[in-house]
Amino acid sequence: MSEAKEALASKKHFVVESGTGTGKTICALVAALELAKGSGRKVIYLTRTVSQSDQVMVELQAISEIKRVVGIPMSGRAKSCLFMKGAGRDDALPPHALSRFCEEKKKRTRSGQVGGCGHYANLSAIKDGSLLTYVARELPLVQEFDDHCADMGICPYEARKLLAKDADVVVAPYIHVLSDELREHFMETIGSNLGEVIMIIDEAHNLVDSARDAESFRLTLTELHAGMPEFKMRSGMEVGKGTTLKDLVDTVKEIITDKIKEIPEDQDEVELGRMFLEGELATRLGLDIGSVKAIATNTFELGQAIAEEKIAAGSDPRSMTLHLGEFLRRWSSVDGTSFVKTASREEGGSLRAVNVVPEQLEGLLSSCPSVLHMSGTLRPLEQYVDVAGVPSGYVTRCYPSPYPPENKMVLYTPDLNPGFDAMARDPSMKCKVEEAVTALCNAVDVSTIVFFRSYDLMRRMRPQIEPSVHKGMFWDTGLSADHFNRAIYKFKQKRGGIFFTAMGGRVSEGLDFPGRQLEMVVIVGLPYSPPSLALRKLEMLYETRYGNGKGKRYAQEVPAIRKVNQAVGRLIRTESDRGAAIILDSRTSKYAAELDARPSAAPAVEVQRFFSRGDQHS
Ligand code: SF4
Repeated sequence: MSEAKEALASKKHFVVESGTGTGKTICALVAALELAKGSGRKVIYLTRTVSQSDQVMVELQAISEIKRVVGIPMSGRAKSCLFMKGAGRDDALPPHALSRFCEEKKKRTRSGQVGGCGHYANLSAIKDGSLLTYVARELPLVQEFDDHCADMGICPYEARKLLAKDADVVVAPYIHVLSDELREHFMETIGSNLGEVIMIIDEAHNLVDSARDAESFRLTLTELHAGMPEFKMRSGMEVGKGTTLKDLVDTVKEIITDKIKEIPEDQDEVELGRMFLEGELATRLGLDIGSVKAIATNTFELGQAIAEEKIAAGSDPRSMTLHLGEFLRRWSSVDGTSFVKTASREEGGSLRAVNVVPEQLEGLLSSCPSVLHMSGTLRPLEQYVDVAGVPSGYVTRCYPSPYPPENKMVLYTPDLNPGFDAMARDPSMKCKVEEAVTALCNAVDVSTIVFFRSYDLMRRMRPQIEPSVHKGMFWDTGLSADHFNRAIYKFKQKRGGIFFTAMGGRVSEGLDFPGRQLEMVVIVGLPYSPPSLALRKLEMLYETRYGNGKGKRYAQEVPAIRKVNQAVGRLIRTESDRGAAIILDSRTSKYAAELDARPSAAPAVEVQRFFSRGDQHS
């Protein structure tokens, strides 16, 4: 804690890997709060998910028993607008459209016009400090705060904005600060600036991918087909001189359809030139590039007007015209260095702009001098520092797990390789891997998760594995959210079940399996990212930037190692937990030290021995 405080006090980034059980959340909060109180600064705690935000609020509750602290968990307008929730339409509008809608409602409320927002009016009527007192006393979780506001009939989103200015700690999902536009609004809301705040980035191993996802976007033929009723109603409306909405939609559909036909059979996508779409639209519509850009803006504005019309009519405000206009505007604005533009077969045919260099993240980190980056799986730290763009002068640390090392066993098989190429070379490999999975599942009566490297591999192996495993089985294929939650609940309730899923799927992060709820994980194939044009570009870019073979290492190997470490880390959550991980992939030998793994020719026998020792102790 003192090292973190020292680094943050001297306005340096502190990058730390600290395993489960080291108390990193509370240590980070205490260090940041001590520093903040002394310097009048505010703490921003960034998480990836709402459940992680709740965990931070729980830690703040513990701190508040010793010292007064005000923390507020933020959530987006789409998730908390009571007006939209009441109409059953939360998440139906893109943020900017909802923002316009809300601003109009508030304006009407302030000027006493009809069509205002009662929840905003109720909030404005609160003149005492009762809300702040409630937050300081309860330090509520996200849903608790929403429920409290709903009970009072006040807008949770606007209430958060009011309280954030007085809070010591603002807890928020990454997305609030990743894009320049949202970040500006967020900083204004909390009443501070990046140069002044102390920022904690939790689960930082997810940060770069989250930033890339936030900046990537696409338009699919499926979406355009779904928008046909809306397009037909306005087909004659002009979006440019002599160009109707119908002309535009038909031309975009033609362009995607024609390009998809050009994709070679053995590939899923082709790369497009930076100005491909603008050029095609100009040629096919007989326009110049400037007019095509004007069409994008006009379509976007028409979409906003349609969304507002729909809201006024009390119907679902989603507008495909708005989506199309937004796509065209963004497509023209992104450059060819940070993005790969592709035509893909996915989702019936699509145009995609995939971000590879999240420049907005680099901008964020360089503007904020005191940042604590932390995760249980961040090694190798130099890769994180490089790809996230952590400014120079940073401090790095790794704190080991406090739990007895003998409670964990990690094995890998030197003779099995379920990688795509290896299985193509050796037709018997698939069968050997299936037999190994079956043998491990039947070897011991412990709760086990089997992570396949992809859902596709799981589907292909299921017919051979399922009849041979004599346990309660759960398969994560095509389950609705409700069925998935029920399957997880049942798996946790009864020891000895087997949950089959894919790495990176819903089980990979965010679920906790303490004690005997999870004792063994089987990893079927190292989870390298599937080949894609974006991955190839990323590899080349890293190689150019960092040299020495770091292209493949940074783009492919390190993310796979982290995913495996995440899966293995699920086994040991307390001092008394014991667990075994078996990686069915001979390529693990290259990373054996980083994964703390050793080879085993008979893993089923070894796990029997490992767990029989544990049973004697328990
Ligand atoms: S003030 Fe709140 S409840 Fe009212 S429209 Fe805006 S976000 Fe929704």
